Amino acid sequence: MGDKLFDKIRGALYGVAVGDALGGPLEFMSKEEIIKSYGEVREIIGGGWLSLKPGETTDDTAMTLAVARGIATQPDDPLYAVGKNFIDWFNSEPKDIGNTCQEAIEIALQLAGDEQIPSSDKWIKAAVELSDRNNHRSGGNGALMRTVYPGLFYNDREKACDVAVQIGDMTHADELSDKLVSIYTELVYDMVRNGSVDECLGIVLKLIEEKKLKDKLPPGLKSSGWCADSMKVSLHYLVSKSSFEDTIVAAVNEGGDSDTVGAVCGGLAGALYGFECIPERWVKTLSPTLSAELERLSQSAFDSEY
Ligand SMILES: [Mg+2]
Repeated sequence: MGDKLFDKIRGALYGVAVGDALGGPLEFMSKEEIIKSYGEVREIIGGGWLSLKPGETTDDTAMTLAVARGIATQPDDPLYAVGKNFIDWFNSEPKDIGNTCQEAIEIALQLAGDEQIPSSDKWIKAAVELSDRNNHRSGGNGALMRTVYPGLFYNDREKACDVAVQIGDMTHADELSDKLVSIYTELVYDMVRNGSVDECLGIVLKLIEEKKLKDKLPPGLKSSGWCADSMKVSLHYLVSKSSFEDTIVAAVNEGGDSDTVGAVCGGLAGALYGFECIPERWVKTLSPTLSAELERLSQSAFDSEY
């Protein structure tokens, strides 16, 4: 069981990164534009509006790592450490940062004042202030895209969900985002700890039913910056395709917020199929630094006694 669990933890973490790298070059393209330009994208090609190098990842992976490092260093109450990592990343002037995350980080820094690193309550306050300011439109993808790690690290399902939701609430004060972050965490948690693909798919279908997701998610398929759309596309291909590769390829070829959908769907499909099922040619495109970090964080999650 140990080997299988480790393979699935690695699968979920690497899944986020390869999904982000595969989808990044297609961000903001429509499904039709992708078909016209490429037919279908099945390789990590780089390019796109961010001029990515093949294998280069975006904010989805950067924030996932910020969360994971924070949890691994301060498991009991990780918000301060995660927040510090968000700020370090923000100060590195990343080429891609979502509006809600950027504005929430700016407000949190203002609230922190001389303290420089905001305390947990200042993050939560910043996100609420931002949501009030933007007419309660804080349901973007920014929280969902970064919360794969709690479900891998914590051995208690409820604790994993609580931490994931709190980390989402640092920038995204939004009820639906909270719900989807919690469901995503439950799915990741359950799939990495259960064996066969059929068993895991049963878990996914049961949870969709139990959580009445059909009522919460929009009809049809549309890849956008809204967390409900991303979850819909991710779950649709998770249950309708039968390999890691086919699932992620289908999800990112929807276009729209393709890097985020790739990351979210990659986290789920990685938890379902495990690392051994991720195409090696995709993994090889990631930088050695990133791969080393993913290995280290996978090991920390596997060894975690929390
Ligand atoms: Mg991105």
